[in-house]
Amino acid sequence: MRYRCSVCGQEYPLETRQWQCECGGLFEFESGIQFSDEVVQRGVPTLWRYRALLPVHEDRNVVSLGEGFTPLVRSEIYGHEVWFKSEFLGPTGSFKDRGATVLISVLKELGISTVVEDSSGNAAASIAAYCARAGIHARIFVPAHASPAKLAQIAIYGAELVPIEGPRENSAVAAQEAARDAYYASHNYNPLFVEGTKTFAYEIWEQLGCAPDNVVLPVGNGSLFMGAYIGFKDLAEAGLIDNMPRLFGVQAKACAPIYEAFVRGDEDARPVESGKTAAEGIHIARPVRGRVVLRAVGQTDGKMLAVDEAEIRSSQSDLAQQGLFVEPTSAVAVAALQRLAAVLEPGQMTVVGLTGSGLKSD
Ligand SMILES: *Cc1c(COP(=O)(O)O)cnc(C)c1O
Ligand SMILES: [Zn+2]
Repeated sequence: MRYRCSVCGQEYPLETRQWQCECGGLFEFESGIQFSDEVVQRGVPTLWRYRALLPVHEDRNVVSLGEGFTPLVRSEIYGHEVWFKSEFLGPTGSFKDRGATVLISVLKELGISTVVEDSSGNAAASIAAYCARAGIHARIFVPAHASPAKLAQIAIYGAELVPIEGPRENSAVAAQEAARDAYYASHNYNPLFVEGTKTFAYEIWEQLGCAPDNVVLPVGNGSLFMGAYIGFKDLAEAGLIDNMPRLFGVQAKACAPIYEAFVRGDEDARPVESGKTAAEGIHIARPVRGRVVLRAVGQTDGKMLAVDEAEIRSSQSDLAQQGLFVEPTSAVAVAALQRLAAVLEPGQMTVVGLTGSGLKSD
């Protein structure tokens, strides 16, 4: 198990304190373990049923709050039959718990005592919760204007909150400076986070008994999107599914760097000047994983889409009419279904990730 630079191929041990390659390239994780049906512990009702495929050695280092194995709710919306994957039921209210449980477990195993992270809300809340559980001190850099409910949640777990004025990017810069003295537990840079989110795909395969035809997800930096891609790819390589699902990534028009790159046909996203959006969880003007997300979209014959603020609000409400209360960030993926009328075919199976709870958003 080691990190490998996605650009130059240089390898780094898991113990490294570097959070990106010397060349500036993003790390990928090489587990060297292949998915197989036999290793799934079907009696374990959490994502730790895939324990054999996750990079933690000792059971005592597993930091778990019962995350994963979220319900798949069958529904009909905007003329499509869909399955909603209820990620908002995670222990801290978002899918980020999948990444945090794996990342923090590995850090506990490595004996890390202090971490820094930057996030506008859900990732920080999740890292804070799992650090509390692990006995690790968390120092979190947040935009001063983040949602008050999310800030209160991060604080009550006992994390040290450091509000940073200005755009979201400023908190990342502050965290990276602090990372000279503490471990940077970044949900954007650390590929162990995506080792956790790949279980999203494994679960869908178990729950449907096959791979769906389409998966629709909101995309900011792409940690769930890349987890879904890697997870389904593992299943395909193990011969358990015949085809990769088409992956559809959705952004808010006000901040859509990856969508814009997709439309231009570019290989990577360029930073954008973003406007205001209710979708704060994907308000990422300078995405770290643009290149790999665009590659995954291309390789699965998927698409990037963008929706406007009115569409986001009405989809949030339409979803609530079905008993599902999510934050505007998650409603973005549902809103995109209206734009996919000519793309999704009748009789196809489509899974939509409902990524975060409506209870802590404005
Ligand atoms: C973080 C988040 C996203 C986007 O995840 P990325 O990894 O940035 O693509 C989507 N929805 C919710 C609720 C989130 O918290
Ligand atoms: Zn490199």
